Amino acid sequence: MNDILLLKQGEIVLKGLNRRIFEEKLIANVRRRMARVGQFRVYAAQSTVYVEPLEEGADMDAAFEAAKQIFGCVAVVRAAACEKTPQAIFETARDYLSQEFSRVRSFKVESKRSDKTYPMTSIQVSQEVGGLLSDAFPDVAVDVHDPELTVHVEIRENAAYVHSVPALGAGGLPVGSCGAAVSLLSGGIDSPVSTWMAAKRGVHIVPVHFFSFPYTSQLAKDKVVELARLLVPWCGRMTLEVVPFTHIQEEIRDKCPEEYFTVIMRRFMTRIAERIALAHDCGAIVTGESLGQVASQTMSALGVTQEPVKLPVLRPLVCMDKREIVEIARNIGTFETSILPYEDCCTVFTPRHPRTKPRLQEVLEAEAPLDTQALVSEALQGIERIPIR
Ligand code: ATP
Ligand code: MG
Repeated sequence: MNDILLLKQGEIVLKGLNRRIFEEKLIANVRRRMARVGQFRVYAAQSTVYVEPLEEGADMDAAFEAAKQIFGCVAVVRAAACEKTPQAIFETARDYLSQEFSRVRSFKVESKRSDKTYPMTSIQVSQEVGGLLSDAFPDVAVDVHDPELTVHVEIRENAAYVHSVPALGAGGLPVGSCGAAVSLLSGGIDSPVSTWMAAKRGVHIVPVHFFSFPYTSQLAKDKVVELARLLVPWCGRMTLEVVPFTHIQEEIRDKCPEEYFTVIMRRFMTRIAERIALAHDCGAIVTGESLGQVASQTMSALGVTQEPVKLPVLRPLVCMDKREIVEIARNIGTFETSILPYEDCCTVFTPRHPRTKPRLQEVLEAEAPLDTQALVSEALQGIERIPIR
C-alpha cells in the first residue's frame, strides 16, 4: 500500500521555542480524527504530518475529506509513496496520475528535495522523470511555463512522494493550542460561524446556549444541538451547556423598562458565560456579534453588554458583513440548519423601541430591581450538559 496523506503545517512552522507544543497538539488532533475513519499511522517530520494507512482498503477518500477540516494545516496532499530512484518515481507518477494524464495536453514535473544528501538536484530529478513521462505519454507535451498538469515530486528522508494538485487545508492553528473559550451559540447564522472562527485560531470550545422554554421550543434546542454537532469535525468533541433562561427573562419583563429588555438580557448572558468560563478554565467569551447589525450590537450596546465581566469578549465577526458571514456558513455546512425557522430567546419579549445607544448609568438603574446574583446562581444550578459527538 503506498497511498498516503501529507498534511502541510501552516503557521506552526513560524513558532519559535513553542513549536513542539503546537505540533504535538496537531498530531494528537489528527490521530483522534483519523481513528474515526480507520487505522492509520500518524507522525510528523519536516513540517508535515504523515497519515499512512495500516490496513488494506483503508478509506483514503474519507481520510482526505477529514484532513481538510483539521485546523493547523495549510494544504492537504494525497500522494503515492515510492523508492527514491528516478525510475521508481516515474513508474509511480505514470500509474498514480494516469487519469490526470489522459485529461490534459501539457505537463511539467516540479521536484523538491528536503533530503539534502540526495545525489541529484531537484532540477535533475524533474528533467529525468519528465523525460520518462514524456516518452510514456507522447500526446502530452512538456510545458514548463503554463502546464495543465503539474506533477509534484517530493524527495524526503524515507521515501519519495508523487502527487498532483494539493487541496486547501483548513488553515489556522490546532484546536486546543491557544487555550479554551466559552462560545455563545444561538440557533442563528452568526454564532456557528464565530464559534468556527475561534476554533480556527486554536481555541477549544465550550458552547453555551440560553434556553427559554416554553417561549422557545424543544425544536429550537434540537437545532442548536444539531449546529454544535455540525461543528464537531472542525472543533472536536464538545459538551453543550444549556442554561435555563426563562426565569431571568420573565423577571426582566416584569421589573425593567421595556426599552432596556435586550441589553439587560445580554448582560445576564455575559455574566453567566463568565461563570461557566471560569469553571472550565476558559480565558475568553466568544460571541457572534457584528457591529451595527441590530440595536443590541451598536458600539454602546456592546460596551454595556460586556461591562459586568473581566474576561475578554472575543467577537470574530465584529467587522464582517452579513454576506461574508453567510458565505462562511455555507462553506462550513451550518447555513441550511441555521435558517430553519425556530425562534431564539432573543426574540422573546423584544422591545418595540430598543435603546440603540444605551448609557451604562441608565442600564444600571433599569436593572436595579433585579436580584442579579440570585438569578445567575439559579441559572447556573439548572444547567443541562449535552455531550456532542
Ligand atoms: P446569531 O445569528 O448568532 O443568532 P444574531 O445576529 O441573531 O446572531 P443576536 O440574536 O443579537 O444576533 O445575538 C448576538 C450573539 O449573542 C449571538 O451571535 C450569540 O453569540 C449570542 N446569543 C444570542 N442568543 C443566544 C442564545 N439563545 N444562546 C446563546 N447565545 C446567544
Ligand atoms: Mg440570534
